[in-house]
Amino acid sequence: MIYLDNAATTKTAPEVVEAMLPYFTEYYGNASSIYKLGSESKKATIEAREILAETLGAEPNEIYFTAGGSESDNWALKAVYEAYRNKGNHIITSKIEHHAVLHTCEYLEKQGAEITYLDVDENGVVDLEQLERAIRPDTILISVMYANNEIGTIQPMQEIGKIAAKHGILFHTDAVQAYGQLPIDVKELHIDLLSASGHKLNGPKGIGFLYIDKKVRIRSFIHGGQQERGRRAGTENVPGIVGMAAAAQRAFRIMEEKTRKEIKLRDYLISRIQKEIPYAKLNGHPVKRLPNNINFSFEYIEGESLLIMLDMKGICASSGSACTSGTLDPSHVLLAIGLPHEKAHGSLRLTLSEENTREEMDTVVEELKVIVDRLRSMSPLWEDKLKNL
Ligand SMILES: *Cc1c(COP(=O)(O)O)cnc(C)c1O
Repeated sequence: MIYLDNAATTKTAPEVVEAMLPYFTEYYGNASSIYKLGSESKKATIEAREILAETLGAEPNEIYFTAGGSESDNWALKAVYEAYRNKGNHIITSKIEHHAVLHTCEYLEKQGAEITYLDVDENGVVDLEQLERAIRPDTILISVMYANNEIGTIQPMQEIGKIAAKHGILFHTDAVQAYGQLPIDVKELHIDLLSASGHKLNGPKGIGFLYIDKKVRIRSFIHGGQQERGRRAGTENVPGIVGMAAAAQRAFRIMEEKTRKEIKLRDYLISRIQKEIPYAKLNGHPVKRLPNNINFSFEYIEGESLLIMLDMKGICASSGSACTSGTLDPSHVLLAIGLPHEKAHGSLRLTLSEENTREEMDTVVEELKVIVDRLRSMSPLWEDKLKNL
């Protein structure tokens, strides 16, 4: 098997599993309990919070554990809207956000929020001038993702943060793809809220955090006990929390080497596809993109068929986001960068890990060439095209 879907989820690293295991079997106490067993759990969560805070240049009491990226996004948007709606009801986001942000925005629109969805250019970069123009006296939040999960484009965080700070508007970023892949300093970038998720950086599924700058007024998202300083109730997921911290430690430790390796493989695969497969277009920014992201549109091809045929060869890939697969709607991200429907349908996302090899890239290109040829030979549109050449 060749696994090239690390933007959908990653393998839990063995050292992460090892760090978590004792918190299932030995230190299973409730972190809120008084006795020694409970304090072992409590100690582990305190340490984890410190580790995670340090990776962002934040303070430990600014890290709030959640059940993952989707919850963090929901919490950031809904709770800021609730806490600041007396100041205004206008939120600015982008057209290429993850559905955890976009569908939350749609929900908030039904609650009375006004949302501006910023355009992106053909590389998937948000329009900063449009952002400045969109700001109004009643704007309470700007939410722009750090890096896109489909096309890998990295947004100009520094510039967006500066604009937000200049206008005194809160800035949230969905950093689920970026966290663990790129160095991030929340204070330097003027980020007030940041979402991260464990399973995108070789940690466990069902755990994540929301960084909340201490100046932000925000209410509890899950009501109940006093966990997470009264802002997110529920018995702490101690093994998950320990796993999240172990995953972050690992990711930051290997970041430089992993990035170098992935960029080399990424650019090798991109250049081979561009040279050897006609009518293939690279989506996303050529340079400002995640080290592990490759996204192509193949004209005259259905993305779904491509995925099925790759799967038959043992290659795991994706077309658009996992949430979009299973529906026939083309990806909102590819439409936002200006691809026509037929090209958006024929897209393929390959996302690497540090475990992938050059031999695997060669196999993928060879298989892709055969599959693309075969699918095109079955397309009447392709035949017409050949006739008209
Ligand atoms: C995966 C992902 C999410 C959702 O995170 P979960 O932990 O799976 O809920 C949100 N945003 C982006 C950009 C993602 O890639």
